[in-house]
Amino acid sequence: MKKIIRNVIRCKSCGDIIESKYTHDYVTCKCGRCSVDGGHSYLRRSFCDSTDDYEELSEFEDANEKIDDKKSED
Ligand SMILES: [Zn+2]
Repeated sequence: MKKIIRNVIRCKSCGDIIESKYTHDYVTCKCGRCSVDGGHSYLRRSFCDSTDDYEELSEFEDANEKIDDKKSED
């Protein structure tokens, strides 16, 4: 189980970098081919033809991995 740190993609058509910052933050790039949604809860993508329409730039944190300088919020 990976925790989502950043939910972000770059559209290969227009070069727009779009980020969904919270759960129902639905963001579409300026050419309209790709969209992101879900914020830090889930990754949802919309695209025109295939996943090749965008480049995945999201960042994750392994939830099973203990990190000393961060306190778990569970
Ligand atoms: Zn675009």
